[in-house]
Amino acid sequence: MTERLCLVHYHEIGLKGKNRSTFENQLVTNLHRALKAFPIANIQRISGYIVVESEDRMATPEMAHAIAKVPGVARVSLAYKCGLDEGEYNAAAIRALREAGDFSTFKVHARRSSTTYPVHSIDMNHIVGSALCEAFPDKIVQMHDPDVTVVVHVVQGSTFVYAASMPGVGGLPVGTAGKVVTLLSSGFDSPVATWMVGRRGATCIPVHFSGRPMTSDTSEYLCRDIVDALAPSGVVGRMYVVPFGEYQREISLVVPQSLRIIMYRRVMYQVSERIAQLEGAKAIVTGESLGQVASQTLDNIAAVNQAVTIPVLRPLIGSDKQEIIRRAQELGTYDISSQTAPDCCTLFMPRRPETHARMREVLDAWELFDHEAMVNALVASVEYEDFPQCPSYHAPKGPLRAHHSSLAPRDDAPTE
Ligand code: ATP
Ligand code: MG
Repeated sequence: MTERLCLVHYHEIGLKGKNRSTFENQLVTNLHRALKAFPIANIQRISGYIVVESEDRMATPEMAHAIAKVPGVARVSLAYKCGLDEGEYNAAAIRALREAGDFSTFKVHARRSSTTYPVHSIDMNHIVGSALCEAFPDKIVQMHDPDVTVVVHVVQGSTFVYAASMPGVGGLPVGTAGKVVTLLSSGFDSPVATWMVGRRGATCIPVHFSGRPMTSDTSEYLCRDIVDALAPSGVVGRMYVVPFGEYQREISLVVPQSLRIIMYRRVMYQVSERIAQLEGAKAIVTGESLGQVASQTLDNIAAVNQAVTIPVLRPLIGSDKQEIIRRAQELGTYDISSQTAPDCCTLFMPRRPETHARMREVLDAWELFDHEAMVNALVASVEYEDFPQCPSYHAPKGPLRAHHSSLAPRDDAPTE
């Protein structure tokens, strides 16, 4: 029986010159992890592709779907691997075209990466094309923009034949862009923001501020569910949870109502910056989009940003809510984020928050409480949980004054 395998295409990595092998190796590692539930025999680089072979030599669409979610993957094809025998690759082409679904026009695209194969690609086009015309007499060959292209590619003594491809998420392999700390609420935006920087190769470390002990820990469970939903992409290595309720109360008692949110945020940013230092992360990431809510005006963004020196990335700054919601639905975080849970954002909220904070007033309010002691205390009380689906995550080596999560272990707790 002819073997069926997954051919992984990765455009963008191909452009990276000398870094290419680093990128390819990371992608191979990430694919191994993403495919852990499948019986994988081998994953290797061959001539501009990554080839994924399953133990039973019959790769499935489910495997291809799992591969498509891994950052760095531009496209995935279920392909047949044949020898150099004409009869064999013609039969595979017929089979591949039959499996390609509804179509009325097609063409053949033959390529040779090994010039030792004596048949020229133009001749291969004719050979395979004739076989297909015979097998599909009611279909039309069309050279420009056909419904399906049957690719027949000779590589190192084998021929790969495929007709249908599915798009991957694109981007770059997680682990090729360094670490970031992402501010994760259980809302719609920040999970999408986390995924977006992860798709560009960053290893993500979400930090969630919960209202505990003034609220329940529901938001923490929702954040864990969100990270689990992002698991197929392998972007998250570890999640930190910061119980913030007590300190918010402290802030709310001394700071003018209208500036409370800005003070909460400044503390959140400083704690996140400290976690970033512990982790060796080089930026913090938020889910803000310009003007979406009162706190996301340029003035307020500046008032909060001023509290830290680390770069703050806002991948959604120019996105509309509808675009964000659509992406959340694709990622499977939408339904989780639709559940409301009190977190630190719903706690001690002012009736009329400031929308255009003046820096002078912000800095005056900042001096109304011992923010330094507060940040130290919060950093000392952070909790964390590790997520094994991110092979590029390496925990900090030094003494980390953080505690394992106080959340109850999940039923299907990972075994590593
Ligand atoms: P989201 O949909 O991500 O909750 P939002 O529309 O509710 O965002 P804000 O509440 O202004 O907007 O939050 C802006 C950003 O601040 C969030 O995208 C997130 O990055 C960060 N943030 C808000 N609340 C928390 C929290 N409890 N823990 C960690 N980060 C938070
Ligand atoms: Mg929110």
